[in-house]
Amino acid sequence: MKKRVLVTGGAGFLGSHLCERLLNEGADVICADNFFTGDKGNISHLLGNPYFELLRHDVTFPLYVEVDGIYNLACPASPVHYQFDPVQTTKTSVVGAVNMLGLAKRTKAKILQASTSEVYGDPEIHPQPESYKGNVNPIGIRACYDEGKRCAETLFFDYYRQHQVDIKVMRIFNTYGPRMNPNDGRVVSNFIVQALDGRDITIFGDGKQSRSFCYVDDLIDGMIRLMNSRDGFTGPVNVGNPIEFTMLELAEKIIRLTGSSSKIIFESLPQDDPLQRQPVIDLAKKELDWQPQVELEEGLKRTIGYFKSLI
Ligand code: NAD
Ligand code: UDP
Ligand code: UDP
Repeated sequence: MKKRVLVTGGAGFLGSHLCERLLNEGADVICADNFFTGDKGNISHLLGNPYFELLRHDVTFPLYVEVDGIYNLACPASPVHYQFDPVQTTKTSVVGAVNMLGLAKRTKAKILQASTSEVYGDPEIHPQPESYKGNVNPIGIRACYDEGKRCAETLFFDYYRQHQVDIKVMRIFNTYGPRMNPNDGRVVSNFIVQALDGRDITIFGDGKQSRSFCYVDDLIDGMIRLMNSRDGFTGPVNVGNPIEFTMLELAEKIIRLTGSSSKIIFESLPQDDPLQRQPVIDLAKKELDWQPQVELEEGLKRTIGYFKSLI
């Protein structure tokens, strides 16, 4: 019997790659998405597959389906989108988690939460291990996302302790690759689109802030490994690439790889923008036997190829 797997947010960037991988591995996949930031184009190639089913559904409403596993990815992930309707963002993380955990409880399905490095806020400890409790401004403009995701983690662990729901919590660090939304303002997609258009590359602040970027295939591999990890291993577990770059280095790399004549310009840094972020991945190495394989330069080439194909 094929495993029936629900992917919420399955028409998004990460969700569409996940649906594809699960289908390739023989699962029967239900993709639930309200298309807030997702795109039908991300999954149109899957629609002909008899084991792929698409539901237009908002996770803040209950969902009654029979499944063996749930990947809960529904939530806008980029600041421009999660700040567009911040109340809905918190509802999606919190009410969405209650509904999906209620579904997991009833069906006895294993459930994985796509949490985020944003639970660490603007970290005072560098790099960040899972034991770090974070430095989040609860009333800032990123809070709808950060605190929503933190509360979702709380709900996951309370359903685990109170109702014995089988949970897996993954803290995802910045991920990039084909099918990123070109308009969602994330740094990799912004810089590539600007470079390909020959427009100025917009660095926010002085460009010395750092991030570590994980290629999507590596991330999805880690996600599937976490879902299949040993019984009783709940996480939270960091999954991301520990190799750190400044935004200036990223801009220069993208200009070189695209052969663009774009100039770098500096704009003001958004409020609460973290200065640095880098995962400690020892736990993922130990429990999931996972570490990233794709180097930034190679991943950027593939992503540039994708954005070229859109133009
Ligand atoms: P995305 O915006 O491409 O995908 C999110 C998907 O969720 C979209 O298809 C959107 O339409 C859908 N969605 C939003 N609200 C919904 C709702 N109420 N009901 C149903 N569907 C809804 O973003 P992504 O980068 O693919 O992120 C997927 C998940 O991974 C998110 O939960 C995000 O917080 C998490 N994450 C991503 C990153 C990253 O770097 N990409 C980093 C950390 C965490
Ligand atoms: N829920 C759902 N699908 C299900 C079971 C539950 O969407 O198959 C939702 C429902 O809205 C419910 C929530 O999950 O309110 C939490 O379920 P739980 O059983 O934890 O609590 P309840 O509110 O039913 O007491
Ligand atoms: N950033 C930038 N120029 C852009 C978009 C983003 O310099 O056009 C910066 C942003 O201020 C942040 C970093 O790049 O410091 C990563 O931003 P992104 O939104 O991709 O991810 P997050 O801040 O959530 O890690």
